[in-house]
Amino acid sequence: MSDLLKIQEPINEPVKNYEPGSTDRKMLQATLTNMSSEQIDMPLWINGKAVRTGRTGQAIMPHRHQHVVGQYHQAGDSEVQSAIKAALNVHHEWSSWPWEKRAQIFLKAADLLAGPWRDRINASTMLGQSKTAHQAEIDAACELIDFFRFNVHFYEKALQLQPISTPEVHNRLDHRPLEGFIFAVSPFNFTSIAANLSCAPALCGNTVVWKPASTSTLSAHYLMQLLTEAGLPDGVINLVYGSGAQIGSQILQQRDLGGIHFTGSTSVFQNMWKTVGDRIHQYRDYPRLVGETGGKDFILAHPSADPKALITAMVRGSFEYQGQKCSASSRAYIPQSIWSQIQTELIEVVESIKIGDVSDFTNFMGAVIDAPSFETHKKAIEEARHTAGTRILAGGICDDREGYFVRPTIIHTDNPKYSTMCTELFGPILTVYVYPDAQWVDMFSVVDQSTHYALTGAVFAQDRSALEEATKALRYSAGNFYLNDKPTGAMVGQQPFGGARASGTNDKGGSMLNLLRWISPRTIKETHRPPTDYKYPYMGKD
Ligand code: NAD
Repeated sequence: MSDLLKIQEPINEPVKNYEPGSTDRKMLQATLTNMSSEQIDMPLWINGKAVRTGRTGQAIMPHRHQHVVGQYHQAGDSEVQSAIKAALNVHHEWSSWPWEKRAQIFLKAADLLAGPWRDRINASTMLGQSKTAHQAEIDAACELIDFFRFNVHFYEKALQLQPISTPEVHNRLDHRPLEGFIFAVSPFNFTSIAANLSCAPALCGNTVVWKPASTSTLSAHYLMQLLTEAGLPDGVINLVYGSGAQIGSQILQQRDLGGIHFTGSTSVFQNMWKTVGDRIHQYRDYPRLVGETGGKDFILAHPSADPKALITAMVRGSFEYQGQKCSASSRAYIPQSIWSQIQTELIEVVESIKIGDVSDFTNFMGAVIDAPSFETHKKAIEEARHTAGTRILAGGICDDREGYFVRPTIIHTDNPKYSTMCTELFGPILTVYVYPDAQWVDMFSVVDQSTHYALTGAVFAQDRSALEEATKALRYSAGNFYLNDKPTGAMVGQQPFGGARASGTNDKGGSMLNLLRWISPRTIKETHRPPTDYKYPYMGKD
């Protein structure tokens, strides 16, 4: 069963800083230049073969939307069917491999990504998803390398979860993958998540049909190449591009659907759940539904908060990657005494943020992902401008002539239930509600009850008892809760990530808890000296 491979205890991949003059920076810039000068063809990848349908969509740079970086082929019904068939055909063989052999593929992918593939995956994430070099590095390189390595480490630990045996009865768990295939559906905003949604189930012996967001096809294309070079066998992960609604509705009809591994918006996941529920009698199994979804993440400051730390957290937590992190803070509750100290500086800092083409490394932010997202933000800003009791304090400028640029925006509102305090926009808008210092305790229910979400939240206080009070009162308000730190930037192995309520099933991607969802254990009992008489001692005569 085991080749006794000793898996090294992983450590988080060090983040490269790409400072001026460094070789790392020059190499990444050269890759960006090359990638910007080509228009690649991105086929579907089914059973290890490139499939071209001729029905193509365009991959563009959000920060230069007229610049096309490639065409991706879109799957129709027959290609989706072939992808499912390929996943089902290879299931028996892949799931029978010794686990160490499967693990080697993902450990090799990590090493390739840490080395020769780093620039390609980073550059494709920068150009296709408008991430700065730093944001691409912490996502597409470091977090994904961590997912690959830590998943192997946690899977090894999961295999060791074994029941007790007695001298004559040996018990064990056979950690089977799920029957059927897994449907992995990924969002645009994290290259690491896109890969992990397929690779975590695959490590456990499952086979996958993977549908990435149409706005992240460039990085998906290179990810598939990376996995292929790492030795992933044909059919284990099958990549299909196209409309989520169309591909989703076809896949959810399948009797062999073993599970869904989803990250994206709450409404899409809830609709998938509903479809699965409606059709539950038609599946062979109860499909496992694992979904990490939306957020309306908060920062709550106490009157004892450190003003400088608070400003930095508000800026980084709300505006890095244009606020397009599910964990990004988009509502803040600040006591009047602290607000009087930070308001001017906060506005100055936000107004000084440089945004633009991510290939220019002096920019802190790029563009929002696409035209619909740009319009959503423009509309929210216009509404705030014209609502009594609500003002734009910084930013508020949208310009889509060259790219989908929305300046980092701070809205001040007198209404803690104003729409941008409650609804996820998924972009660079932070709304601030200033409360009288004496109402600190009242803020707990406001924070907890303003939205259906419970993904991330941060509390700033130097007073220890305030931290304790908030930790207790907001126990169910966030799945990732930060004390004196911004609510973004969870690291694999350090802060297992995910939220409950409308934010997801809270299965903490990149941890053992997530891997357990892709395992369907079989208990095996072996008795060495089975009884040979059906009668029990109590049946003897007195
Ligand atoms: P989205 O829901 O629009 O799309 C996600 C994926 O679902 C895409 O691949 C899309 O094509 C697909 N899809 C759309 N309709 C579908 C359908 N009917 N059936 C099947 N698939 C369908 O989300 P997005 O805009 O790509 O990402 C942003 C959202 O993701 C935000 O709400 C954000 O909070 C959330 N998110 C959450 C986490 C987390 O860990 N909780 C992480 C990243 C992003």
